[in-house]
Amino acid sequence: MAQAGIHGIVGVVARKWTPASEWLVLGIVLGSLLPDADNLAVAVATVTGSPTAGLHRTFTHSLFTVTAVIIVFQLIAILTKRPRLGNLGLGLGIGMIMHILLDLLIWFDGVQLLWPLPMWINFWEGVTPPEWFSQLMMPVEMLFFALYFAGLAALAGRQGTDLGRVRGLKGWTAVQTILFLIFLVLVYTMESGFMTIYGAVYLLSLGVATVITIQMRQTIEAVAE
Ligand SMILES: [Zn+2]
Repeated sequence: MAQAGIHGIVGVVARKWTPASEWLVLGIVLGSLLPDADNLAVAVATVTGSPTAGLHRTFTHSLFTVTAVIIVFQLIAILTKRPRLGNLGLGLGIGMIMHILLDLLIWFDGVQLLWPLPMWINFWEGVTPPEWFSQLMMPVEMLFFALYFAGLAALAGRQGTDLGRVRGLKGWTAVQTILFLIFLVLVYTMESGFMTIYGAVYLLSLGVATVITIQMRQTIEAVAE
């Protein structure tokens, strides 16, 4: 994972170059966030004592999955005669591809790009970041959630959209900032059990980010001047 917040921010920034089709940009931002929800499978496997190999950066980071998502949404859009669902599906596909590219470029790990084919693409083969850095990247997840929420709040204020949600959003920004500070201490001091607590909070935060993204869709989709 590159930090989910980074993916979210990149998704929102990309709207500048996106045609104004209803739910397209919403799809792009959600598609940017969601591939790392595969960590939920990792968490379930961990709790149930099953092997976790092959769960992260595989089925949700595959071009086959991207294609399937786009096709399924187009079909639903046609069948239900709701074209914006097609826009949403196309956006999800674009967002997922952006997520995968970002993962490949700025993370020290590979992606199973053509899952289920057993082929990993890794630009970082043979590069192992120092332990302290890998540890630091975990609390930094919370910092980027905070930045993503703060960015949405600022955007809403500037555009005059979703103003009723700005206060709540500022609250979530504060929560994520505090979580960042707490985990920053815990990651270097906790002897055991860190990953369990952190993993649960991370998945909850990703869920909150997904809900907030959907709630703030007017802000995300407003045409930037
Ligand atoms: Zn990822």
